[in-house]
Amino acid sequence: MLKSLRLMIASFASRRAASSSPRGAVRWHRFACAVAPTFVPSYRALVELLREQENRWAARAVAQEAAERFPDNADAWMLLGLGWQLVYRQQEALAAFEQALVLAERPDAALAAGAIYQRFGQHADAAARFALAYAAGGGPEALRLNAEALFHAGDEAAAEQALTLWADPERTAAELRARSPHDAEGYERFDARVRALASFLAYLYAATPPDVKSPSFGDAMSGVRIGNAFRRLGRKAAREATRAMPMAIADYVAESLDSDAVRGAIASRAVQYTAMGPWSAGTTAVFLGDSAGNDGGAAGQSTIARGGPGALADSLASAAASLGAEVRTGAEVVQVLTTEHRAIGVALASGEELHARVVVSAADPKRTITTLLDPVVAGPELMWRAGNIRTPGIVSKVNLALSGLPAFAGAEGQERLAGRIVIAPGIDYLEKAFDASKYGRVSDEPYLEATIPTLMDPTLAPEGAHVMSILVQWTPYRVREGEWEAERERVGDLVVRTMEQYAPGLGELVTARQVLTPVDLEREYGLSGGHPLHAEPGLDQFFAWRPLLGHARYRFGIDGLYLCGSGAHPGGGITGAPGANAARVILSDLTKRRQR
Ligand SMILES: Cc1cc2nc3c(=O)[nH]c(=O)nc-3n(C[C@H](O)[C@H](O)[C@H](O)COP(=O)(O)OP(=O)(O)OC[C@H]3O[C@@H](n4cnc5c(N)ncnc54)[C@H](O)[C@@H]3O)c2cc1C
Repeated sequence: MLKSLRLMIASFASRRAASSSPRGAVRWHRFACAVAPTFVPSYRALVELLREQENRWAARAVAQEAAERFPDNADAWMLLGLGWQLVYRQQEALAAFEQALVLAERPDAALAAGAIYQRFGQHADAAARFALAYAAGGGPEALRLNAEALFHAGDEAAAEQALTLWADPERTAAELRARSPHDAEGYERFDARVRALASFLAYLYAATPPDVKSPSFGDAMSGVRIGNAFRRLGRKAAREATRAMPMAIADYVAESLDSDAVRGAIASRAVQYTAMGPWSAGTTAVFLGDSAGNDGGAAGQSTIARGGPGALADSLASAAASLGAEVRTGAEVVQVLTTEHRAIGVALASGEELHARVVVSAADPKRTITTLLDPVVAGPELMWRAGNIRTPGIVSKVNLALSGLPAFAGAEGQERLAGRIVIAPGIDYLEKAFDASKYGRVSDEPYLEATIPTLMDPTLAPEGAHVMSILVQWTPYRVREGEWEAERERVGDLVVRTMEQYAPGLGELVTARQVLTPVDLEREYGLSGGHPLHAEPGLDQFFAWRPLLGHARYRFGIDGLYLCGSGAHPGGGITGAPGANAARVILSDLTKRRQR
């Protein structure tokens, strides 16, 4: 009885609201809501009115009150979802729509929740919500909306996230301003700090690591030089270098930058080629190392050799030939020849033996010791230590031949595509992609880095066509289920599918595809464990510890044997740095030997 009386009063108040001024209407609706024993239309009308008056937080409070008073009413939760959306709080809105869905499987709640999931780029969840909407009676319209939403979702989400880190930090900062004034400010400071620390690391990278067991006068001098470079950094930056290197890159970028998209793009450089995620300790050292000795700063530097990396190798070979060197290809070394614990040459798979004053290995350190050196000569300790050099290969490479240039959402114009196209939209995205690899799996949302070299060098493909080379992480050398032989094409499909989310229609442009897995990298390029950098660049395999403590000075294992590739300090990348450092040591040793 009392309940129906209260309902009658509420209905009367709601009618009075309809014929009142906006301020009066707010008062009448408030009264109607207060007396009503159930969720009444006045709640929605009141929220609408307050929204029209730009009183968004008050509208949200009304919706909150409705949901608190009538927690079993799906309409009240729908209204609360709307209220949260009015104040741009999508997470809270999502929770309210989800609650409405729990109470009653309503198509409007599923569509609203689906739309938010979609905005967050969580397409699978969006699909699930829309499917629920269909089941709840949304019918074909829900399915049509679902298909349309999912089709555009990649495009829109990508366009929202797309950003360019230009070589010029001012230009980057200017573009970041629209996204986040804080990041625009922070980026330039961050870039300056990276350049300062990288300039110090460049000294470290050009130096031969000290002999930790019995340091010589030369080691002391190089220590002084490194110390001077350290001091030149200034006290603050010097402290910063020691603090930053062991840090996880996720923490390091978070100190200066807010936007997850910016953090992800920068952090991706710290985990590239590694079996580490952005939350792994020491990834800041990898990041700073990647910046050492180049002018890339926070954005990093991209250099593309005209004619491809093969052309670079060809010109190095012809430069060597012009100085009298003979370069043989297809000549597999099967053993380092030794006499009295000293390297004197190599034996080839063909049976031929080549003798030399020194043997310099560009093969990775694990392979050099464990497969090329006689175990009796190497000795059990070195064999064991070399066998434990960490080489967790996790990179695959997908090469695509394309009939045209793909269009990337939010990256109009060829200039933005001419560097590296990085699919790493946030720290969590990267960490989740890494996580899967820890358990021998490949994430459905992998970290990708693509280049389209034909934009700089059109001679690499027929006119109008392009090639796209995509690095995909993390694809573990040992897959938990199945074999790489069977998994290879699945990774190719995954990469094209992922790229399609950012460049819709890319799949239709693919005319040919090649997929190289870590197992292929090991088989084809002799990389132990398929590791692209010959050894993981963790802090335990850095500087005097690369590849092994006591063997970091390019003299490797026995007299006359040297290491000159990525497994030696300062590590991988097409830098020539380990080779240059090794050459200095070898020349000095040969000079000393001649003088004896
Ligand atoms: C997919 C992928 C993408 C990469 N992208 C980049 C990039 O964009 N930029 C960059 O700077 N770096 C990149 N790198 C890393 C870069 O390629 C390496 O760091 C660099 O090639 C290392 O040069 P290196 O001379 O030390 O060793 P390698 O290039 O690995 O050369 C070692 C050579 O030794 C040979 N070898 C091994 N065993 C024997 C044997 N028993 N007998 C005879 N020969 C042998 C191998 O066949 C190989 O040719 C990439 C690596 C990979 C795998």
